[in-house]
Amino acid sequence: SREVHLASRPSGWPTPENFTVAEAAVPELGPDQVLVRNVVMSVDPYMRGRMDDRPSYVPPFQVGAPLDGGAVGEVVASTSDTVPVGAHVLHGLGWRELAVLPAARVTVIDTTLAPAGAYLGVLGMPGLTAYAGLLEVAGMTAGDTVFVSGAAGAVGSLVGQIAKLKGAARVVGSAGSAEKVRHLVDDLGFDAAFNYKDGDVRGQLRTAAPDGIDVYFDNVGGEHLEAAISALNNRGRVAICGMISQYNADAPTPGPRNMAMIIGKRLTLRGFIVSDFNALQPTFVREMGGWLADGSVRTQETVVDGGVDAAGQAFVDLMRGANTGKMLVRF
Ligand code: NDP
Repeated sequence: SREVHLASRPSGWPTPENFTVAEAAVPELGPDQVLVRNVVMSVDPYMRGRMDDRPSYVPPFQVGAPLDGGAVGEVVASTSDTVPVGAHVLHGLGWRELAVLPAARVTVIDTTLAPAGAYLGVLGMPGLTAYAGLLEVAGMTAGDTVFVSGAAGAVGSLVGQIAKLKGAARVVGSAGSAEKVRHLVDDLGFDAAFNYKDGDVRGQLRTAAPDGIDVYFDNVGGEHLEAAISALNNRGRVAICGMISQYNADAPTPGPRNMAMIIGKRLTLRGFIVSDFNALQPTFVREMGGWLADGSVRTQETVVDGGVDAAGQAFVDLMRGANTGKMLVRF
């Protein structure tokens, strides 16, 4: 079987040379284990942090060892009574063709209800991130004006749509191309959107939300966070989900220059990790499943073919914005 190893730690932006494909022996199955042939795997921005050698909420990847991450595959051998051959499972050993796992570490999924990739996107980790971050962390309620950055990505595209379904008065998104901006407004029902690469994020946000914003869902940090702090109304709330504009920085980046506004406006800025909200998963899947079934949530995926040979490049491309919606690698 072949797997992707971290060849070297990126300094600044990752490149395809940071990844290498290696042969690995497939171990014999022990008791209560499954052998999974991966069908589709996820590349996610948080993986960039794991490529650096520093402690975080997930341990760093090791140079010369395989990477890991979310994947869906088909069970091709099993010594488990509960997970049979032929089952499709969600698990944490992506970046390889074949994975051996304890049956307790896989979740059987129903690929007749939703395609395999949905369990890595809209019904999976990014979906729960959007749902919990918007509703629990930011405490969005009907009538709020909501701004989300990274709005054409896996998490952001769902934040905007959930906000509309929960009665937001106005939903504004930012993204990195004219085509993504068009997609947000024409396909996903955002009230307004702008291309942050046109510059003046603060001015573009003011134009898009002339009466200010009540909730900011931050996927980006930096200039976006500063603009949002300026645009937030009194008692505004911010879910700090990600700061992708800083993940490839090789030196500390400047913070928002307007932090003092947090005081007078009584703002709340709150960071979170999706796993804090694992207990919400059944509620989330029920509600999101309904929205998908009746067409009130729409998703787009960017799927790259080529399995382990394509995964490193797909990760690099994700960081540069090549994706609309969830970025996936198909085997
Ligand atoms: P996306 O699908 O949104 O992909 C990443 C996107 O980030 C790219 O498509 C690109 O789009 C955008 N981007 C890259 N660089 C910049 C930049 N300098 N400024 C603005 N946008 C940029 O990824 P996800 O939906 O999976 O993740 C979105 C965010 O949520 C990330 O920050 C991630 O770390 C975070 N996250 C946090 C979790 C948590 O538990 N707290 C869980 C899951 C995700 P564009 O073309 O618009 O630039």
